Amino acid sequence: MEPLMLTGNEAVARAVVDSGTRVAASYPGSPTVQILEAVATYDGLHAEWSTSEKVACEVAIGASMAGAAAFAAMKHVGINIAADPLMTFTWTKLNGPLVIAVGDDPGQISSQNEQDSRMWAEYAMIPMLHPATPQECYDMSRLAFDVSERFHTPVFVRLTDRTCHMMGEVVPRESVERPPRGFEPDPVRYYQVPPYSREARAMVEQRIPEVAKWVEDGHGWRSEVRDGRVGVVTFGPQYYMIRELLPELSIFKLDFLWPLPLAALANFASQVERVIVVEELFPFVENKMKLAGIACEGKEHFLSYGEIDAQTVLRVFAGLGFGEEPIAAFTKPTDAPPRGAMFCPGCPHRPVMVLLRELGIFCHGDIGCYLMGSYPPFDVLKTSVSMAASLGIAQGMEKALAGTEHEIENMVSVIGDSTLCHSGLPSVINYAYNGHRSKMLILDNRSTSMTGLQDNPVTGITVRGEQKHGVDLAEVVKALGVTNVVKVNQYNLAECRKVFREKFLEEEGPLAVIVTGTCALKYRKKFNYYYVDPDVCIGCRTCVQVGCPPISMRQYAHQPEGELHSYIDRNRCVGCSVCYQVCPVNAIKRSKLDEIPDVPVPVGLSEGEES
Ligand code: SF4
Ligand code: SF4
Repeated sequence: MEPLMLTGNEAVARAVVDSGTRVAASYPGSPTVQILEAVATYDGLHAEWSTSEKVACEVAIGASMAGAAAFAAMKHVGINIAADPLMTFTWTKLNGPLVIAVGDDPGQISSQNEQDSRMWAEYAMIPMLHPATPQECYDMSRLAFDVSERFHTPVFVRLTDRTCHMMGEVVPRESVERPPRGFEPDPVRYYQVPPYSREARAMVEQRIPEVAKWVEDGHGWRSEVRDGRVGVVTFGPQYYMIRELLPELSIFKLDFLWPLPLAALANFASQVERVIVVEELFPFVENKMKLAGIACEGKEHFLSYGEIDAQTVLRVFAGLGFGEEPIAAFTKPTDAPPRGAMFCPGCPHRPVMVLLRELGIFCHGDIGCYLMGSYPPFDVLKTSVSMAASLGIAQGMEKALAGTEHEIENMVSVIGDSTLCHSGLPSVINYAYNGHRSKMLILDNRSTSMTGLQDNPVTGITVRGEQKHGVDLAEVVKALGVTNVVKVNQYNLAECRKVFREKFLEEEGPLAVIVTGTCALKYRKKFNYYYVDPDVCIGCRTCVQVGCPPISMRQYAHQPEGELHSYIDRNRCVGCSVCYQVCPVNAIKRSKLDEIPDVPVPVGLSEGEES
């Protein structure tokens, strides 16, 4: 077949389709978010953004029970959410194959924590593969379906950021048909209560050794013995990195991370003087080898957190007598000013944070773009733990501190539309049912923006772009027992200020304020933009405190040396009007998209040049 240029995520998606999958479900989460987006570009299977990883897992489980090939994708923290159905379903002798892709994030590039999903594989007794390149993503995902079918077990395909996002040539193979076998009632397999589930438990204890023997028999590992002084045990991107950097080293490459081919590893170890395990995060392989009596080293050379990069590999093996020390550490560019994470220009969350700061309201944050409200210049959100945790955390803190000297008045928990649908609704029920009085602020920006602008049940648009019923959050929250609900437009500062003051500072909870404002990336450049008249501007910097990237303080040639006035880069302004609303002297004005205002430009810039 003709080779394709695909990312790792796209290669997994192609394998899912070519494996005859009937149902694929996911909740968006980096680094695996693009798998389902890519699956949805193919016909012939059901693809959906589910409301959470648990629901995605349950949808895939249902398809597997029906005898169809099923797939679910999630990031590492998503397994925590999906664990409840997964940990029980794994005791099932599968009818249709089920493959779960999980994206780990060594180095915490875009996650609230680092987890090592290999622990889940062992804990749930589910085999796990770990590809390194887009071709391996394709091949191992196809293999995962075959292993799942052969041994009637769910199979994990573990990915990391590097593998998900690298692009490379992929040669696909003939696709296979996996027509659904249909559901055959069988209490031992599908009705997980004692005594049936005890029988199922015994079945798993037999299943895993069978998989282990099959792996041991030469499936999913490669032993390359060269220099006898040191042998490396590794997998994933580190395998190719070491082969390229230090081609003389002996290497044992693992495709299966669980179960491990321990006899083959012991044989490899017997052919070299020292074994070094190179693995990101926990010493999983190292510990398993040591438990099996195979002498090896690992974490005395590498950290148990973060990514393992080429510099680290070179430095460690130079210390062991292989290759050269890296010539120079990577240097940071010195001419780029440090910049913190910030809201996009025109983000509807910005005016909300401006007002929460202005009113001095204590807020619990959650997982979403609004996390930026915990950074300067806002410093508004005080806590953030995990998806939809802000509601429960506020409830617990409120009860713990009630009546004490530490009591926090007017505590508000902030949550987004997608996060509320994901796992926030049970906390809303708890809030009303158990009589909590802290307040809820629901940020409805009509998007799951942080992971790339996916639609969700609130927008009512599916991953294939079909229009479906959109959830009315106000009605849902009322139906769950919070009857005091008010909606306000996020971009209208005066109206928002009035509602926030009344609801958050003057009224008693329980109550919910829903602020609505479409994600700026969705309406970009539909509106006119704003500009500053430097002769009206008094240089008070109120607009800069809004924290919008296009706004900066500048020197104008016709004004006294050292006197700075505001400037808006019109190429980046999306016209949300928030800076216009805070300027005390009306120095910020609205222009038409195709008009250049007749005002001076700052020193060093030509008209329209990006600041
Ligand atoms: S109007 Fe002001 S706050 Fe809104 S995007 Fe433009 S510069 Fe930023
Ligand atoms: S808020 Fe208005 S007056 Fe103050 S710096 Fe900005 S443009 Fe100038």
